[in-house]
Amino acid sequence: SVGTIDDARVTPMMQQYLGIKVQYPDCLLFYRMGDFYELFLDDAEIAAKALNIVLTKRGKHQGEDIAMCGVPVDRSDDYLHRLIALGHRVAVCEQIEDPAEARKRGGKSVVKRAVVRLVTPGTLTEDRLLEPSRANHLVALSRLAESDVFGVAAVDISTGSFTVAETPSGSLPALLARLAPSEIVLADALHADGVVADMVAESKAAVTPVAREFAEAGLAERRLRDWYGVETLDGFGRFSRVEIAAAATAVAYVTRTQVGARPQLQAPSRIEQSGAMEIDPATRANLELTRTLGGERAGSLIDAIDQTVTSAGGRLLAERLAAPLTDPAAIAERLDAVTWTLVDGATRTRLRALLKAAPDMARALSRLALDRGGPRDLAALRDGLSAARAVAGLLNSASNLPAELLAAAAAAQAVGQELVEGLAAALADDLPLQKRDGGFVRRGYDPRLEETRALRDETRSVIAALQGRYAEETGIRTLKVKHNSVLGFFIEVSQATGESWLKPPQNALFIHRQTMAGAMRFATVELSELDQRIAAAAGQAVALELAVFDRLAAAVLASAPAIRAAADGLAAIDVACSLGEIAASRSWVRPSVDTSLAFAIQGGRHPVVEAALRTRGKGFVANDCDLSGTPPRGQAKGGGRIAVVTGPNMAGKSTFLRQNAVIALLAQTGSFVPATSAHIGIVDRLFSRVGAADDLARGRSTFMVEMVETAAILNQAGPRALVILDEIGRGTATFDGLSIAWAAVEHLHEVNRSRGLFATHYHELTGLAKSLKRLQNLTMRVTEWQGDVVFLHEVLPGAADRSYGIQVAKLAGLPRAAIERARSVLAQLEATSRAAPVARLVNDLPLFAVTAPPAPVAGFAEPRADPLRDALDAINPDELTPKAALDALYALKRVR
Ligand code: ADP
Repeated sequence: SVGTIDDARVTPMMQQYLGIKVQYPDCLLFYRMGDFYELFLDDAEIAAKALNIVLTKRGKHQGEDIAMCGVPVDRSDDYLHRLIALGHRVAVCEQIEDPAEARKRGGKSVVKRAVVRLVTPGTLTEDRLLEPSRANHLVALSRLAESDVFGVAAVDISTGSFTVAETPSGSLPALLARLAPSEIVLADALHADGVVADMVAESKAAVTPVAREFAEAGLAERRLRDWYGVETLDGFGRFSRVEIAAAATAVAYVTRTQVGARPQLQAPSRIEQSGAMEIDPATRANLELTRTLGGERAGSLIDAIDQTVTSAGGRLLAERLAAPLTDPAAIAERLDAVTWTLVDGATRTRLRALLKAAPDMARALSRLALDRGGPRDLAALRDGLSAARAVAGLLNSASNLPAELLAAAAAAQAVGQELVEGLAAALADDLPLQKRDGGFVRRGYDPRLEETRALRDETRSVIAALQGRYAEETGIRTLKVKHNSVLGFFIEVSQATGESWLKPPQNALFIHRQTMAGAMRFATVELSELDQRIAAAAGQAVALELAVFDRLAAAVLASAPAIRAAADGLAAIDVACSLGEIAASRSWVRPSVDTSLAFAIQGGRHPVVEAALRTRGKGFVANDCDLSGTPPRGQAKGGGRIAVVTGPNMAGKSTFLRQNAVIALLAQTGSFVPATSAHIGIVDRLFSRVGAADDLARGRSTFMVEMVETAAILNQAGPRALVILDEIGRGTATFDGLSIAWAAVEHLHEVNRSRGLFATHYHELTGLAKSLKRLQNLTMRVTEWQGDVVFLHEVLPGAADRSYGIQVAKLAGLPRAAIERARSVLAQLEATSRAAPVARLVNDLPLFAVTAPPAPVAGFAEPRADPLRDALDAINPDELTPKAALDALYALKRVR
């Protein structure tokens, strides 16, 4: 408890602290005191623990020690970073007047302080707090009363991007997964809805419920109009009410966290959802698109294909991979750009070298807009814009430029040359981090600045001369003139000399200031005057430099839209070159993508597994996959749209499944693909699931998770979907699992009619190919050598004959005795055939008998009698009159 604020025993400083702290109960308060940010009371205890720094005490509050810890201001970014990563929010409270002012007021006056900013995961702008190649999205959610439709607004204040969308609740998880927000803001009331709370929790973002006034739909439109200073929002395009509500919540939250500062946000634009492949969170996780299942970027797909040389390029690639396109023409446009970079490798290499010199302009620009920028941000724009000119020049001199690169080149050179020249003329070569340190304006740039600098430098040489003079006049050779921030300039002499100076005649000239161990310090009138002149000159120099800074920043901000466009153009060029680089170095091919339902990959590889094998000096076995549903050329049969893949553990089933999903994804991202040829009919939704036993990351009952996810697929997948199911059903007893897997394949084949790959342990499933005409069986080739199984990683038509489980167990190092015992148990089991029930199921077709109970089998219970089915079997509809049919229906309803 912090006690009441106007308690007489509370010091004035503590009163101020407590008064500020109550306004930010959900934040750690960084309270500025000189060169430190101090934290007190509970905040101090939390921070000391989180940051592993010393917890001390400062005075007493209501009879108890006040816990305190502090972090130095110039290293505060690191501490902020760690606190934010741990899920804390920080309110930064600065001194907003010169301490001298407070002293003038006298008495117990405390320096005025105010919170200037809230630091939260979704509102970061500092490079040291941000990942360079990842957008930092703050997402605001809204839902209008009694509706199932959500408004979603995504803001990245570090780049100014601002997008909105409207989505039914069913697609919200996929959209959130695509945006991968760092923080989600939503009204308290919405967060109180358990389903919504679960959905946002699933996204792993920090969740910030806000009071109603932030999310008030009635005020939303006005809030946005005020923010952009416009009379109407019509100029931005048409948005629904729920989108406007979400956008306004985002803006209100940004305003709250940035206190006075105002980030430059672009006008909101709509996220194209219908134009993008829908990929739900589980699929993203399972295919390890941006993170491995272990949470690392290393080993993910993006890591394997990201050869961009700029942060903005990295972000654009990640954004594209998160939302592959579904329009063949748009995909072709991206592929044209990649193709162009492949024609002339030398040009691509030169472009990449030029791009490498381009710093992160979008983020530098945003910091300048928030008045948080430093000299290096101006330099980033100077270097970025000149790189943009060079890149545009190179592209313009090339021939046959495809549309995407043509547009990018035009954008890259749209910023006036004067701006670059202005920045280049003004900025020095070596730049300080903070503008207040001064020294960033180039020598000779500003005549008035040169005068004050000359004065300052001159005074310094006067000081040096003074030291010589004092030494000579007093005969003390060891006398030194020194400087520190407390005393200013002073003379330091040995203690013995100092003692003698305390007496006449020396005491008339030398004024005692400080006694040290073995030394004494003195001032003179002359020195203090010099001190003041130097301080004034330095102060004036800094003031003049700051004026130059402000002028340059204003010029930059005036061109902000053009600079952003140039930065976007460079990013697009970087992505095209990066994908070209990969295609060239790893022999990837241009996929053909159209509106058919084809899926024909030849010589496909998994980019991540292949890279991992390469580092171990091993080769990857390329495999074909055809789910087009048409028989291969020269063959009358085969070519199902769903493939059941059987084969022992470790044979490469998962790899094969995932590589085909990844190839489709890469193709629709506009990338070349790891294959010798690829023909893909647009995939509008991608599903990928792994059976329970592989799913270690979840806390819930794994089988339940698996079933919920399978249900989602069977309910949602359509004929344009691509479905990858890996060992579904193995989280339960054999016959349960087999039944579920069986039913799932049938459902996909008959109802969803999707293209799909289904890896399974249940060899029984291969029997389905007899009855389901668009089903094919594939198997992994293995051989045995001296009793051991050898995986050839080759995919062939057909079914696996055995599972080699015992051989795999042997490879894994199970004790010999256990292996021998397993062999004999297996032999006994195989004697009691498991084929019988499956044969019956297969003969039971044409199926779509999802509810069929398993047939009797030795050792298993008889299924219960089913009178309803019996009654149904007894009816022959062809022989019924309408009246008899109705009677039969009533009769059926009575059957129990
Ligand atoms: P399964 O799903 O059948 O258990 P995985 O797909 O997990 O098998 O593959 C097991 C291992 O086999 C992989 O980690 C990889 O090292 C190797 N592997 C898989 N596919 C190939 C391939 N096509 N070429 C070479 N090695 C492969």
